[in-house]
Amino acid sequence: MNKLGSSNKQYDVIVVGAGMAGLYILYKLRVAGFSAIALETGDDVGGTWYWNRYPGARCDIESLDYSYSFDPELEKQWQWSERYATQPEILRYLQFVADRYDLRRDIQFSTRVERADWDEDASQWKVTTANGDCLTSQFYVMATGCLSLPKEPDVPGANRFGGTTYSTNAWPHDGVDFTGKRVAVIGTGSSGIQSIPLIAKEASQITVFQRTANYAAPANNGPVREEHLQKLQADRDTYHEEARWSRAGVPLPRSEEPFFTVEPEERQRRLEKGFARGDLLTINTLFTDLVSNQAANDSVAEFFRDKVRAKVTDPQTAEDLCAKDFPLFTKRLCLETNYFETFNLPHSKLINLRHTPIESITETGIDTTEESMEFDSIVFATGFDAMTGAIVAVDIRGRHGIELKDVWEEGPKTYLGLNVHGFPNFFTITGPGSPSVLSNMVVSIEQHVDWITAAFEHLRNQGLKTLEATAAAQEGWATHVNDFANLTLYPVANSWYMGANVPGKPRVFLPYIGGVDTYRQACNEVVERDYLGFEQSGPAGFHCNEGVIRYVKPDVQMVLDLIASLEQPPLETLPVDQARAAMDANAATRAPGPDVGEIIDSKLPGPDGELDYRLYRPATAGPHPIVVYYHGGGWVLGHASSDDPFCRHLCTSSNSIVVSVDYRHAPEARFPAAVDDAYGALNWIAENAESLGGDSKQLAVAGWSAGGNLATVVCQLARSLDGPNISGQLLVCPATDRDFSTASYGDNAEGYVLTRNLMTWFWDQYCDASDRNDPRVSPLRAESLDGLPPAMVVTAELDPLRDEGNAYAAKMHAAGVAVQHIQAPGQIHTSLTAVDMVVSANDVRQAMSDGIRGFFQ
Ligand SMILES: Cc1cc2nc3c(=O)[nH]c(=O)nc-3n(C[C@H](O)[C@H](O)[C@H](O)COP(=O)(O)OP(=O)(O)OC[C@H]3O[C@@H](n4cnc5c(N)ncnc54)[C@H](O)[C@@H]3O)c2cc1C
Repeated sequence: MNKLGSSNKQYDVIVVGAGMAGLYILYKLRVAGFSAIALETGDDVGGTWYWNRYPGARCDIESLDYSYSFDPELEKQWQWSERYATQPEILRYLQFVADRYDLRRDIQFSTRVERADWDEDASQWKVTTANGDCLTSQFYVMATGCLSLPKEPDVPGANRFGGTTYSTNAWPHDGVDFTGKRVAVIGTGSSGIQSIPLIAKEASQITVFQRTANYAAPANNGPVREEHLQKLQADRDTYHEEARWSRAGVPLPRSEEPFFTVEPEERQRRLEKGFARGDLLTINTLFTDLVSNQAANDSVAEFFRDKVRAKVTDPQTAEDLCAKDFPLFTKRLCLETNYFETFNLPHSKLINLRHTPIESITETGIDTTEESMEFDSIVFATGFDAMTGAIVAVDIRGRHGIELKDVWEEGPKTYLGLNVHGFPNFFTITGPGSPSVLSNMVVSIEQHVDWITAAFEHLRNQGLKTLEATAAAQEGWATHVNDFANLTLYPVANSWYMGANVPGKPRVFLPYIGGVDTYRQACNEVVERDYLGFEQSGPAGFHCNEGVIRYVKPDVQMVLDLIASLEQPPLETLPVDQARAAMDANAATRAPGPDVGEIIDSKLPGPDGELDYRLYRPATAGPHPIVVYYHGGGWVLGHASSDDPFCRHLCTSSNSIVVSVDYRHAPEARFPAAVDDAYGALNWIAENAESLGGDSKQLAVAGWSAGGNLATVVCQLARSLDGPNISGQLLVCPATDRDFSTASYGDNAEGYVLTRNLMTWFWDQYCDASDRNDPRVSPLRAESLDGLPPAMVVTAELDPLRDEGNAYAAKMHAAGVAVQHIQAPGQIHTSLTAVDMVVSANDVRQAMSDGIRGFFQ
């Protein structure tokens, strides 16, 4: 194997690792004209497929997809013999790639990198190997793999055993013969599940020690599927482009349907078909909500458990093999061949470590709390220190000598999983914060390598030397990664995605779950916006387009995307009656909100005729406090039941009666009709509180948007007109001023449902310009805000009305009013009230309910 001469030790790029990622980046860098070297611990190429030679080792993404796509000629020259190729075949493929592009001449094997230091003065990386070599480069790329640092087996006495021990991830190159041997296998993750049936074929006795049962689907391996091959060969470019813009790096149809919207028989039919297909992605894409809806997940998990029960004859063993500790899919689904059936063999045995823990490995075998067992061999299939392990195993020091492992002490933060603030020109391929292990990794590797190489070319073309993420951009990305994870059930599981398999590792969700497509879009946009969030510097100067690439909460973005896909005309371009009908039609598609004890639709006498109201009563015993609620809709749209889900939420979560009152709307009834009605309704409810089942001494007001405007105004009127007594005011994204010159109007003029144009239209419908300084229109302009009831003001970051809401909170506070002010990042004007649809606002909604309860204490 290659051992490069040590004369040239200065490179444009030093790459660590010669697996799938290392090989591809070497190829790309050479084509782009950069000098590069890859340093690799092993003595040949292949990475994962060089080390993991255990019996049964195979890919779990179909080989046709788990192949490079960068060169159609390469693809034509290689044929896979099976749908899921074995480790030897995949290794041969990677060796073939290395030979075809003559890559070995740029790889130094048997070389472990120990340390890398950023040299500030020279603007370069200094890389030290275990062999004592020291090399320097402008760029330093870790292609060290997400699953390459084996986890130490945390079993007491692991070193005492006198027989032979094997680790699935460092398997002997000339294989192992277990014929006639008594073998213990510790670990039932993917490697255990793949190897156990084959070890059982040879061994005289096999005992499997299982801490956590895993979900597995049958691989149904066989020859490459003909229709799959045809689809690829018919139009390779389109096929690969679809893979690149898919959720997980494999082109698959996407379901539009949540689990429970499909009839039970049809659900079952789809599950059976997906299960029988034998792959790990299809079944997860059958419905939209399997990793976000616990009940849906539970149903499908039970489907998987029933499959185990049908295969394993001993009921207790079957039950032990059923995964129950974590939601389905929150650990990578395993593909199995004869795994469960292995436990029907007379010489196999399962030890459930939850019931019978290992006390110690001994010289001759394994002692559990119940028995002593003797073995000839022990196989450890105990997994990896995933995603960060191999990176921080190298002592990497950035600016001012800061150590990466210290920076990541509480969990890794990266910008796009590509770079880390404080570590210029340092890049990770499939690093934490990128889709990596949640995807077909070759697609993710190619995307990262293409992005990184293009960035190097960009710097070279611009006469620049360094690229480094800003702290703000990195923080923004970390928030986005967490926001996405928190929309799912993944953080619930003690998985290696969460770092939970390694004692002491911080519990942080490591990969990016938004999808390969969404992620690629973000990376592309960063480049299009002149490397947004990166500092670029060099002889040609310094510049930085500072910013955060994704600040809208992911579920808010999904709602925005859905709205955009409907291509509806802007409301302000419609006649008023059509705008009202459009708003009602959209409201009909919302989630309904929680059940309440009782709903009454009735009328109350207003100053100019009857007004509708809808009363929401909690299921608990009364009398309850009352919240008078004013709906949103720009004084033009909406009615007593138009904020129904939000009112239900406020009712149940604050244990209050909510009375949503209607008021006359513009343009038919312009200012001050809505104010008169709002105040009249408040007085009527105060006077009739007891007959409504409420507590007459506990009355608050609440409102959203234009309704928030009316809520502020009735509080000011009640103060100056001596009543009624109001315990508190909840103002959600309130309109408080007629000023359109605020920063929030500028920043959020378009794109977030409530636009500047729509607000202009609302104001024009509602009142004349000459009325707009009246504090009953612009309550922020009131001379004094002294003596108002305690307030909770909630504003959304991406809302034109944000700054006027903030200003009203600040002005009340300055006037001595008790104010709680919540500023909701990444939310828009309409998302805070989107109950059961925008779950990222759940905390804010909970705070609102707590705020209401606080008014009544
Ligand atoms: C058993 C198994 C099956 C898998 N099956 C699939 C699959 O079907 N589909 C899929 O998408 N993914 C699969 N994966 C994930 C797999 O790791 C990736 O698909 C891919 O092979 C990763 O390539 P890589 O080059 O990024 O990393 P690796 O292949 O892990 O290569 C990293 C290389 O870096 C070297 N290295 C690390 N640290 C140092 C150092 N300090 N100095 C020098 N060299 C170093 C290592 O020796 C290694 O050779 C599987 C993983 C395992 C373990």
